[in-house]
Parts: sequence; structure tokens; C-alpha cells
Amino acid sequence: MKKLHSPTLQSLSDLLFPRSCLGCNRYLNFYESTLCITCQIELPQTHFQNTRKNPVFNKLDLLFPIEAATAAFIFQKEGLVAHLIYDFKYKGNHQSGLLLTHYLTIALKESLLFREIEGIVPLPLHHTRKRKRGFNQAEIIGKVIAQKLKIPFYADGLIRLKKTKALAHIGDEDRWNEIKDAFVINSSYKRLPNHLLLVDDVITTGATLSACADALKKNSSLKLSIAALACRL
Ligand SMILES: [Zn+2]
Repeated sequence: MKKLHSPTLQSLSDLLFPRSCLGCNRYLNFYESTLCITCQIELPQTHFQNTRKNPVFNKLDLLFPIEAATAAFIFQKEGLVAHLIYDFKYKGNHQSGLLLTHYLTIALKESLLFREIEGIVPLPLHHTRKRKRGFNQAEIIGKVIAQKLKIPFYADGLIRLKKTKALAHIGDEDRWNEIKDAFVINSSYKRLPNHLLLVDDVITTGATLSACADALKKNSSLKLSIAALACRL
């Protein structure tokens, strides 16, 4: 249930309809919203947006030229962020995704490194996978960031041609072969802005982002920056 503005009304509402924390499931106090204070403190924020040569930038810059890159959180196996992303992607709990996106949006807004972004493109899902899941998580993340930062959003700027295997479960070398040439720019856009922010949920090896960068940079001098909810280091 949505948090109310008046503390008294919120206390009364919490008595009748207790709200629970998305992280630990404990009942929330009237002054808490979505996540309890303990879970909020536990969130492993990176603050990478404050340093250009951060670990995400360094990892991706080896694969393709980028202007800036960040992820709001460290992805720890079985950690709170992993739990929230799982709920978002596989259980369709958009509230969990929106909560993490909120942190990423603030990080991007505060950063000096992302001021030149002219358009946002989400990492696309193959249309059959999107139909099955009902949504593309990167599209939801990108759309919220675009709305809050008032930057044009190109939901279908990139198209995924290949339905790849679940990349999390295959080895590094196979992953690169699987994803190569999987993406193309949507030809219905005559020209995309010159500096794009490519958005994803979790950065792992960077193979998928690299394949997207190849497609976006093909025959163009386009500048690319990257933002994700979380990264595995
Ligand atoms: Zn909690």
C-alpha cells in the first residue's frame, strides 16, 4: 500500500493494513517507505557515479569506447539487491525494480559525468522473451530515468534479433559467441542523438553491452555511456 503524507493517517492505515518491507518482509513503521531502515542501510551502494575511472568503467572500457559508466549497487549472490532484482525480473514485482531505479536515477542526477547525455536506450529483450515475461526490465528502468531527468527515451532504439540462451548459465567464451551480432539499430530512426545512455539491470561480463555498442557504433561516431542497477565485480 502507498505511503501516506500525514504521519497520523499513516499510523492508522498501518494498523489496519500493515505494509511490509520489500527486503526482509518485516512490518514497516509509519516513517518508512518500501524498505525498512535496516535494509536501506544494508544496500551496497557503489557511488561509482562520482569517479570516472571506476571498476565498471574500467571493465567496459576494455571492451568498447565509452564516455562514462556506473552501476548503483554491487550485486552480491543471495544479497538484498539480488533478491530485489529477482523479484522484479522473475516475479514481476515492479515496486522492487522502481525502488532500485530510484537510487540509480539520483546517482545519475547528482553526477557530473552524465550531464551530456542526449538520449536513453534500454538493452532490448528478444520479442518472444519480452512477450513471455510481459515486460523488458531495462525498458522500465530506462523510461523512469528518462522521465525524471527529462531526456528523450528510445524504447526500441535497439532491436534484439537473436534469441540467445540464458547467458547467466553459460561459460564466458560461449557467451561472447552467443551474443555476437545479436543487435541492430532500429532503422525507423533516421538519426539517434549523438550521446546515448544504454541502460541495463545487471552488468556481468559486459558481453551483451559490448554487442549493443557494436550495433550502435556501426557507421557512426556516436558516444556511449552505460548505467545499470547493479554490477558483479
Ligand atoms: Zn527490511
